[in-house]
Amino acid sequence: MNRYDQLKKLMDQCRYFKTVCGAGNEDPQEVRRLTMVYALAGACSMDVSANVDVVKGAMQGLDTAELLAEKLGKTIPVRPYINVSVGLKGDPHIRKARIDKDICTQCGNCLDKCLQDAIDDNFVVAQQHCIGCGKCDEQCDVDAIKYYDKRVNLQEIIPECLASGAETLELHAIIADDDAVMADWKLLNSMLKDNYISMCLDRHFLSDVHLLDRIQRAYEISGDRLIIQADGIPMGGGEDDYKSTLQAIAIADIIEKSGIPCKLLASGGTNSKTRELARLCGVHVHGVSIGTYARRIVKHIINRPDFDDNLELIGQAVQIAEQLVKVNIA
Ligand code: SF4
Ligand code: SF4
Repeated sequence: MNRYDQLKKLMDQCRYFKTVCGAGNEDPQEVRRLTMVYALAGACSMDVSANVDVVKGAMQGLDTAELLAEKLGKTIPVRPYINVSVGLKGDPHIRKARIDKDICTQCGNCLDKCLQDAIDDNFVVAQQHCIGCGKCDEQCDVDAIKYYDKRVNLQEIIPECLASGAETLELHAIIADDDAVMADWKLLNSMLKDNYISMCLDRHFLSDVHLLDRIQRAYEISGDRLIIQADGIPMGGGEDDYKSTLQAIAIADIIEKSGIPCKLLASGGTNSKTRELARLCGVHVHGVSIGTYARRIVKHIINRPDFDDNLELIGQAVQIAEQLVKVNIA
C-alpha cells in the first residue's frame, strides 16, 4: 500500500491523530522530542513549521521512536507523516509576538500565560518558540504586545521541506481574501501531487456560506486529496473541558452537512473531550489535531535536561500522550 492509501485508510477508519508541534515553533529539539513521544503514543501525523531544520528534527524524532519502540513495548505500524504548515499574511498561525519595551510596565502578567515559555525575565520574546497564540496579549492591560507576520517563500522552502522528509502540506488560510488564499492553494497543489493537502479554516472572517464556498473551490483544485482542518478557536486549547472544544465540533458539523467530500479534522481548542463530544453530537470527523493541549501535558517531562537519555522519563511521557491519542481515535 502506498503512503497516500495508508493515510486514506487511517482517516477512513477515523484513526487519524495529528500532533501539532506548532506552525510557528522553530525549535528543532522540542519538535524532535514531541514527535518521538507522540509517535510512540500512536499519533500518525506530526504538524511542523516550514523550516528545514525543524523537519529534520521531526525525522530524527521518528527514527528514535522506531528504535525505542521494542524497548518500550510499543509498535508503530505506520510511520507517522510529517506535515508542513504554512500560512498567509494575516493568519494567526504565522504571526510572532514582540513586546514594546517603551510601553511594557514589566508587570509580569504575561509570563505564566505563555505555554511556550517564549517570554524571558527581561520581557523579550524568543522568536523560535513563539507560536503567535496571543495568550500573553490577553493579559496585557497596556497593549505592549505587537505582532508581525513571518511568512516564508513557498517556492523556496516547500521543495526543501519535502526533500527533507515532509510528505503532506497544510495552508493556514484564516483570512478573508479569497484570491490570496486560492493563489497559494494552487501553488501548493502544484508542488505536492501525490498525497493529501490540507486547508485550515475557521469562521473568524467567513460566514458559513463563504466558508463552504471556499472549501468547494479548494476541492475543485485538490479533489479527493483535500483535508479540511476545521479550526474551532485557533490555538484555543490548553484546558481539558467540553467548552474549549465545542467550536471545533460546531465548525466540523457545518462542513460535514455540506456534503463536500473532503476529509475532516477537528482542531482549535481540541483536547481529551473532542472525539467524545463529536460522538455525542453525531458529528463525523476523520481525525483530530491537537496542539496546545498535547504539548502542555508532556512539557514538564520533555523539557527536562536528562530527557533524551532517560528511558523511564520517555516512557512516562509516552504514557501520558497515549491516553490523549487513545480517546481521540475511534
Ligand atoms: S503567549 Fe503565545 S503569542 Fe505570546 S509569546 Fe507566548 S507563544 Fe508567543
Ligand atoms: S503583560 Fe504587558 S506590561 Fe505586563 S509584562 Fe507582559 S508585556 Fe509587559
